[in-house]
Amino acid sequence: MKIGRLFSEKTVFSFEVFPPKSTASADSVYHTLEAIHRLTPDFISVTYGAGGSGGALTAQIAEAVKSRYHTESVAHLPCMYLSKDEVLQLISEFKQKGIENILVLRGDAVPGMPPKDDFRYASDAIPFIKAHGDFHIIGACYPEGHRESENMVADIRNLKRKVDAGADHLISQLFFDNRYFYTFLERARKAGVNVPVQAGIMPVINKKQIERMTELCGATLPKKFVKMMERFAHQPEAMRDAGIAYAVNQITDLVAQGVDGIHLYTMNQPYVAQKIKEAVQTLII
Ligand code: FAD
Repeated sequence: MKIGRLFSEKTVFSFEVFPPKSTASADSVYHTLEAIHRLTPDFISVTYGAGGSGGALTAQIAEAVKSRYHTESVAHLPCMYLSKDEVLQLISEFKQKGIENILVLRGDAVPGMPPKDDFRYASDAIPFIKAHGDFHIIGACYPEGHRESENMVADIRNLKRKVDAGADHLISQLFFDNRYFYTFLERARKAGVNVPVQAGIMPVINKKQIERMTELCGATLPKKFVKMMERFAHQPEAMRDAGIAYAVNQITDLVAQGVDGIHLYTMNQPYVAQKIKEAVQTLII
């Protein structure tokens, strides 16, 4: 099923999982899927580990999400290190496996690895993929601006290009202060970005994870969030529970403000996904 139609029916709630680094340890992600599919998300997306696992593993897991766990799936597809032929091979594999939804990305530069020339931006890959298959296409967006972009105006101009190129819906980068999301959304709508936008929420599991993620994506850490991390830095369970409460507060506010959907970066942590889903269950029907 293409997931686009869900947005006219409800506040969409989805999960993201990542494949393990090697095919050999792929089983660990099935443990996560076994638990989280019971929480009846609208879809589960599977990242594409640019650092090693590659598209075949993503396709294999996204297929299992559908066939074994009876949940709609989204396969991520970062394109900057792929040629047109490689993208064609992958999307043909997606089709064979019944995958109908793709999150098309540029991907992040790997130091020392020159990109291929075929797709410079996600907006180059989207029309190419659309021309070769009947997929629901998703793009990424950045409430605080993409870290390489000059400023927010340029980033939103490029986002509009991505939507004009054929992105049917967007999922945002994680953020810890909803005000960034609301300001971004207002500006994007004014610029003519009229597709559904899901807010990406990442619960804190430990201080190290957040430091690594924010280093990667540059999300601002609000004062109260930093205080929470400092207060519970040496109490793993308290940190986990405070992180769950923080994420639930963010989601409650977003849903109250009429957000199109929530995309939870589960970090392959079923307990955290379960606690959050239970807490917001009545809000998202
Ligand atoms: P683009 O949309 O191509 O934008 C990249 C930069 O180029 C931006 O600064 C933009 O403003 C600028 N730009 C875009 N178009 C133009 C243009 N025409 N002219 C000039 N400048 C332009 N990475 C992975 O490797 N695997 C994953 O599975 C993965 N999943 C993700 C899921 C989500 C929800 C998000 C938000 C990100 C994910 N990423 C993933 C990370 C993503 O690959 C990086 O953030 C990457 O740096 C940008 O990808 P993009 O598709 O948003 O890039």
